[in-house]
Amino acid sequence: MAKRLEGKTILITGASSGIGRSTAMEFARTSPKSLKLILTARRHDALKAIAEDIKKEVGEGVKVLPVKLDVSKSNEVKEFVENLPSDFKDIDVLVNNAGLVKGKDRAPDIKEDDLDIMFSTNVIGLINMTQAILPIFKKRADGGKGDIINIGSIAGRDPYPEGSVYCATKAAVSSFTDAMRRELIDTRIRVMEVAPGQVETEFSIVRFYGDKAKADAVYKGCEPLTPDDIAEAAATVMHKKT
Ligand code: NDP
Repeated sequence: MAKRLEGKTILITGASSGIGRSTAMEFARTSPKSLKLILTARRHDALKAIAEDIKKEVGEGVKVLPVKLDVSKSNEVKEFVENLPSDFKDIDVLVNNAGLVKGKDRAPDIKEDDLDIMFSTNVIGLINMTQAILPIFKKRADGGKGDIINIGSIAGRDPYPEGSVYCATKAAVSSFTDAMRRELIDTRIRVMEVAPGQVETEFSIVRFYGDKAKADAVYKGCEPLTPDDIAEAAATVMHKKT
């Protein structure tokens, strides 16, 4: 895995916890001398703490840029890209990981605000980021090479009750990823989806409104994935450096 990451600049959205945080830590561990990580999320303090954790674990070899960014706000996304420091501008990989579930996600009960936040984060946020980063790939000296890894979910293909809007957002992520892959087929930009099943993060409990007993009952008999499993999958599908 390390070879795929060497020398890369990787932007991870939703890096303040769960899969995003673990992906950042795992990437840093496996490529401790030559990686640049741009970590974004709304909780800036959490990102700064992760940057410190990376420094403690692997030293100064991995350069980390923590940036407060709400992916659902297209103006913030544009401003973020315009203001990237020059040594972090040459992004190789975008990991579109930011995502959430909100409120009582049952079709008859869903509230407008919750519907809005799920679509504007999981779908529109992912599209905002993709549109902002594509021009960076196209300008690259190596002929427009770049990887986009979208964190979808098995929920997009196998929807479950009381997850109606969340599952619909992840189906949208899958469709968008597949269509874009075909649109960019003649370029050196690769578009991929990693669609996990259950991963042990805060999200697994939030999904059940904090009801851990319910979460445990639904997942009985399943062995959840770890965030590190997802990091490994993301690293495996990337372009090799050489
Ligand atoms: P977490 O809740 O731990 O992480 C979600 C991340 O998304 C946080 O860092 C959060 O940061 C960020 N985020 C949420 N809204 C926004 C926003 N508007 N702008 C920027 N960042 C945002 O959950 P997971 O790690 O489990 O989830 C990560 C991804 O994996 C999601 O897309 C989720 O749908 C997907 N997934 C999760 C599975 C699971 O079982 N856990 C299974 C399949 C897919 P902050 O609050 O600081 O903004």
